[in-house]
Amino acid sequence: MNEFLRFDPRLDEVLMKALGGSPPTREEAYQLLNSTERDLPGLVYVASAIRDREKGKRISYSKKVLIPLSNLCRNHCGYCGFRKDPAEPAARIMSQDEALRIAELGDRSGCREALFILGERPESTHPEASRRLRRLGYSTMTDYLLDTCELILEKTKLLPHTNAGVLTREELERLRDVNASIGIMLENSSVRLCLEGGPHQNSPGKNPRLRLRMIEEAGRLKIPFTTGLLVGIGETPEERADSLLELKRLHDEYNHIQELIIQSFCPKPGTPMEGWPQPHLSEVMRTVAAARIIFQGRTNIQTPPNLVHQRYREVLAAGINDWGGISNITDDQVNPEEPWPRIEALEEITSGEGFELRMRLPVYPEYVKRIPGFLPGRLQDRILSMVDDEGYVKEDGL
Ligand code: SF4
Repeated sequence: MNEFLRFDPRLDEVLMKALGGSPPTREEAYQLLNSTERDLPGLVYVASAIRDREKGKRISYSKKVLIPLSNLCRNHCGYCGFRKDPAEPAARIMSQDEALRIAELGDRSGCREALFILGERPESTHPEASRRLRRLGYSTMTDYLLDTCELILEKTKLLPHTNAGVLTREELERLRDVNASIGIMLENSSVRLCLEGGPHQNSPGKNPRLRLRMIEEAGRLKIPFTTGLLVGIGETPEERADSLLELKRLHDEYNHIQELIIQSFCPKPGTPMEGWPQPHLSEVMRTVAAARIIFQGRTNIQTPPNLVHQRYREVLAAGINDWGGISNITDDQVNPEEPWPRIEALEEITSGEGFELRMRLPVYPEYVKRIPGFLPGRLQDRILSMVDDEGYVKEDGL
């Protein structure tokens, strides 16, 4: 331990405190996110020790299919390669038949999660999106999504998890019934990133106040919730720390953030940010380690394994305890150039580092087994029938 803690004595104090179970203050969180390369081994050492103590030697993942229900979106994020304008040939709202075909394929392959991703509220700004929805018999994307979730639940064993951008309380209430969990990336809590020249200047839905309000509503509604940070979009270390602390504040109040994603920005050709550099792996590791030190064992932390250029061992060492949703059937439509690793390969890497890889549902084991009140009544029996005593997917259920 001492060999790691010989560099910055002030940081040593923060790390020793964290190791003793006390999360950092705001100033101390700034120190963590501003730490230097030579401090990184100490940070990682402490984060890893906290993860091992609080979460044990298990790393979870969810076997999923990804259903990109629509790539129409009211926002224009500077880094997004997923969104299409209605006039582009690739713009689409997926038919329910196609969504079902993907889900059935996943069902036959032992998946348990249907991850719905879609642009935010496209009908609010694109008349063409409204026309397409009307042709399908719907007036809003949320109504269409709800019915598609219902269909997947009716015809397959998959459990939906939805990421549809900012949703109102009423929409969350309706979606809660047909989703095992719901998510939205905070990305960052800094309003500065929405100003002119920032990545979110043309994205009203990326206003962090709206996103934090939705995350809070989800807490009030007891929805197992997934959120996280996008690292490398022009934020400062302090803004990264503030974002983690905002999420921690909400989680301390509602205990509903089941998963915190630390995701690396990846430049996409043809986007305004195509020339931006991808953050160095050490930035991702520093953010993961700081998140673990701030949250201690209070949430699950994951980094998408397809975005770390096969540096799996490094992010494991930084304190994650989950690999997120993995699909060996569908592409990552947001990062199509970065395929997910094979689950077998991930298992080998994970066990090679001394961990056991366990499959979970889109709702984490603790919200199934230990924390009461978070399972939607309608899905409760179904979820309980799919898990073992600890809340992981039953081996014989595959
Ligand atoms: S909200 Fe999502 S889909 Fe829409 S532009 Fe931004 S990143 Fe793309």
